[in-house]
Amino acid sequence: MKVLVINCGSSSLKYQVINMNTYEVMCQGIFERIGLEDSVLTHKNSLKGKYVVKGNFSNHKDAINLVLETLSDKKYGVVNDINEIYAVGHRVVHGGEKYSKSVLIDEEVLSYLEECVKLAPIHNPPNIIGIRVCSELMPNIPMIAVFDTAFHQTIPEVAYIYPIEYSLYENYGIRKYGFHGTSHKYVTQKLGEVLNRDIKEMKIISCHLGNGASICAIKGGVSIDTSMGFTPLAGIAMGTRSGNIDPSISTFLIEECGYTAEEANETLNKKSGVLGISGVSSDFRDIEKAALEGNKRAKLALDIFYYRIRGQIAAYAAHMGGVVDAIIFTAGIGENSSITRKACLEGMNFLGIDIDNNRNNVRGEIGEISAEASKVKVFVIPTNEELMIAKETLEVILA
Ligand code: ADP
Repeated sequence: MKVLVINCGSSSLKYQVINMNTYEVMCQGIFERIGLEDSVLTHKNSLKGKYVVKGNFSNHKDAINLVLETLSDKKYGVVNDINEIYAVGHRVVHGGEKYSKSVLIDEEVLSYLEECVKLAPIHNPPNIIGIRVCSELMPNIPMIAVFDTAFHQTIPEVAYIYPIEYSLYENYGIRKYGFHGTSHKYVTQKLGEVLNRDIKEMKIISCHLGNGASICAIKGGVSIDTSMGFTPLAGIAMGTRSGNIDPSISTFLIEECGYTAEEANETLNKKSGVLGISGVSSDFRDIEKAALEGNKRAKLALDIFYYRIRGQIAAYAAHMGGVVDAIIFTAGIGENSSITRKACLEGMNFLGIDIDNNRNNVRGEIGEISAEASKVKVFVIPTNEELMIAKETLEVILA
């Protein structure tokens, strides 16, 4: 049973075909610069190697057409006929308040996703285009939407309502939604498997630390709070995003610093975070190197990043009644940076958290990094959002 997973962005498209009997990735690829000059498709068949196509692909339809042709290519493909694909799982960033689970896509679902465009103006439109084009090119194959927000629909009112005029929630849907849900859900389930414990009986804090970063509190197997908010700009400091700041800074930038609203948005999303503080890079490898070489602002950027993560972990421990069962680190930084993991958990013994420096040397694979005596188990668990999307896709169809 083969499931195609599609993550469609405004000028790029990532995909994987996963064999759901073995969970093996049969092929994966990325189409870059769609709609621009010199578009390029890089396709990798896990057994037969890499295949690159360059050209000018002016729209998503032409690009997806080429992806489908490649999937059934005699040499680099994984199917003889595209109808061998059992279902297509689409990553959709925003599912609003309506979807707390993945859903089979029909016109009604699509029209609700269009309504959600105002909540995710950058992400939802290309997601919708990907769905429409795939439905047109593969009319006999079911399409499933898997939302980044869905896992967080269990967050209680007390955590998702902002302390602003209530009518702004009622009229405009301004509330915390949370993102990275597919990743938090995947690593939490994986932790349950690794520990052979029922996650419904556990209190877990999941730290997804990649270019975008968010922390999630999971109790009884469901999300009860998360650091991102109305948009993915909220929460802890990130590669280029500010995370939580005094909201007046936005209006100050416009009224006093001469920014347009668009420029204010751009600076907080793309020029802030550890990039903004350090002036070095948004990549933690570069910042860690610069800090070691004595760059003070690089060190400050890292210290602010750790400080905010530590505060968020402590806050979630408090909301869950103190000592938690487990903390998970995942995504690019969480999986690879032992320096970050150690620094974030420094001085957290008061919450029963104690890591083992030798164990903490793990990179990119599952590993327990807590000390034998630690009350809280700390794990590195590589995320796999594509596999989670494929699993959910199958679940919807088989339900
Ligand atoms: P996203 O999916 O949000 O684009 P990733 O989860 O792939 O991001 O994370 C990318 C980030 O991971 C990079 O920007 C870099 O900061 C960080 N990273 C990757 N490898 C390492 C490493 N060995 N040490 C420190 N940070 C790393």
